[in-house]
Amino acid sequence: MQTFDVLVIGSGGAGMRAALEAGARGGLSVGLMTKMFPTRSATGMAQGGINGVLGNADPTDTVDKHIFDTVKGSDYLGDQDAIAFFCGQAAAAIREIDYYGVPFSRDAKGQIAQRNFGGQSAPRTCFSADKTGHVILHTMYEQCLKHGVKMLTDRQLLDLAVDGDGLCGVVALDIRTGTVVPVKAKAVVVATGGAGRMYWSRTTNPFTSTADGMAACFRASIPLKDPEMVQFHPTGLAGTGILMSEASRAEGGYLYNNAGERFMARYAPEKMELATRDLVSQAIETEIREGRGFGEGMNAYVLLDLRHLGREKILERLPGIRDLAITFEQVDPIEAPIPIRPSCHYTMGGVDVTNFRTGGTALAGLFAAGEAACVSIHGANRLGGNSLADIMVFGKCAGVGAADYAQAQSREAGDGALMAKTAEWEARLAAAMARGGGPAVASIRDRLAEAMWNKVGIFRRGAEMEEAAAIVDGLAAEYERCAVGDDSRVFNTALVNYVELGNLLAMAKAAVLGAINRTESRGCHLREDYPARDDVNFLKHTLVTLAGAQYELSYRPVVVTEHQPAERRY
Ligand SMILES: Cc1cc2nc3c(=O)[nH]c(=O)nc-3n(C[C@H](O)[C@H](O)[C@H](O)COP(=O)(O)OP(=O)(O)OC[C@H]3O[C@@H](n4cnc5c(N)ncnc54)[C@H](O)[C@@H]3O)c2cc1C
Repeated sequence: MQTFDVLVIGSGGAGMRAALEAGARGGLSVGLMTKMFPTRSATGMAQGGINGVLGNADPTDTVDKHIFDTVKGSDYLGDQDAIAFFCGQAAAAIREIDYYGVPFSRDAKGQIAQRNFGGQSAPRTCFSADKTGHVILHTMYEQCLKHGVKMLTDRQLLDLAVDGDGLCGVVALDIRTGTVVPVKAKAVVVATGGAGRMYWSRTTNPFTSTADGMAACFRASIPLKDPEMVQFHPTGLAGTGILMSEASRAEGGYLYNNAGERFMARYAPEKMELATRDLVSQAIETEIREGRGFGEGMNAYVLLDLRHLGREKILERLPGIRDLAITFEQVDPIEAPIPIRPSCHYTMGGVDVTNFRTGGTALAGLFAAGEAACVSIHGANRLGGNSLADIMVFGKCAGVGAADYAQAQSREAGDGALMAKTAEWEARLAAAMARGGGPAVASIRDRLAEAMWNKVGIFRRGAEMEEAAAIVDGLAAEYERCAVGDDSRVFNTALVNYVELGNLLAMAKAAVLGAINRTESRGCHLREDYPARDDVNFLKHTLVTLAGAQYELSYRPVVVTEHQPAERRY
């Protein structure tokens, strides 16, 4: 059986940063498990940049301003102690990865360049053209290899294995052979990314963002925190949902409706297109709903116009965006405005982290980081550029936490729980592959996405979400008898998708439960039947915990230190 001191699940920025930290310590065996090639992830898709107060573009910028912007951006649902820690660490994290080799774009003085991003009071977003995540990820990968991290590629986490004494390791599907394998570890870091694929084609996320780690932790009785908090990015391509980075607005892009109005003047007269994502998404959807968009139904859109930036700036600062618009929308932004509409972008909720300095959870030896985790610094709405900073800061913390734990751990876990879990999953997958009939995985997945987009999307109402809850339950029942459609073992991607769908259904059920019971509007959670924020009753985190087969709801107060909740205006 493969055995590690520290096993990291997920090779996005959070997982790589955690593995690097544990590997660089020396003397520990560190494994990094990923269900795709290590450099394929949401991190690799991140275009716009990473936030930290360097003061290069604006010497008056301060950590306090970053803290306040993040607290306000979160609509006061972020925990202020964690936010203060995060903002205090972000600049050092950026300098550190600059040192590791990330080729940041530079200003005229040769310093790391910084630009404006939505919801921020100073230009503090560092970038590498519009390929920031890609270069961070590749730099992390090189460093992980250099520090002896063992890559376990094409292995899909299925479940955690826990016995009476604690965490023993994980079981995974070895996609190369179709077998279920146990992997023993003293400490496990879950860094499997978000759950955007709940909305399937209406997301900017990669195909890997299927809530696998969140669901595995949930099944191990770790709560999901704030699962209802799902961010919609305002500028996904109209046809595919593919992201037109916030950099396109940060560099000065305008949004127009069908009357040729820069309609953001109605919603955020000061910040205009640079208001936070939730506000801009809601504004676009309102324009479309009120007949001021182009096209109809799911194909409706508004326009993102970059033409006034000029050819040179578009080619220098936004080359990737231009390529995507040309390839997927057949529009060259140098010559014509780009059809866009909102798309699910980020999962603020996730595995309940109870110690932000270590990434620790309620289960000893289990750590979580990145989009899979909820610390919570993003609260009800994440600011652009804060996620890449999050995965560098808290990825490192989780690496330290897991390495410390593994070094202090003298217990040698037995194999019993691991072997039992392995047998359980072998039987489950064999039965699913043997089923002849039953609904297809893709059919359940598409109906889940439709229900989530139409009833638990940008605008939410109690009655519609109750309908969504019933649909999700119905789909979960169908899932129990669904057909994988391919009984081969080697690189059976249908089997991978089958496992992923089970995880998406679990996450969706938790998200709908949290959303129905949060009878207020806050950040991305916009209830048309409860339009006001309600700090008296809802200045608290949702926790959804699995008890037997039941999804149980509880709450935990938000940590408020310096900034008392105030109305959020831009
Ligand atoms: C298009 C796009 C653009 C973005 N732009 C920005 C930006 O400019 N600035 C910013 O701050 N944020 C941005 N974000 C958000 C940010 O990129 C992500 O939130 C962040 O990179 C998530 O990192 P992560 O390491 O937590 O997860 P990911 O990068 O998603 O990595 C998750 C990893 O887990 C693996 N995995 C998943 N399930 C399993 C399993 N069952 N078993 C094994 N491995 C598994 C995946 O294969 C992957 O390697 C963007 C996101 C997208 C989608």
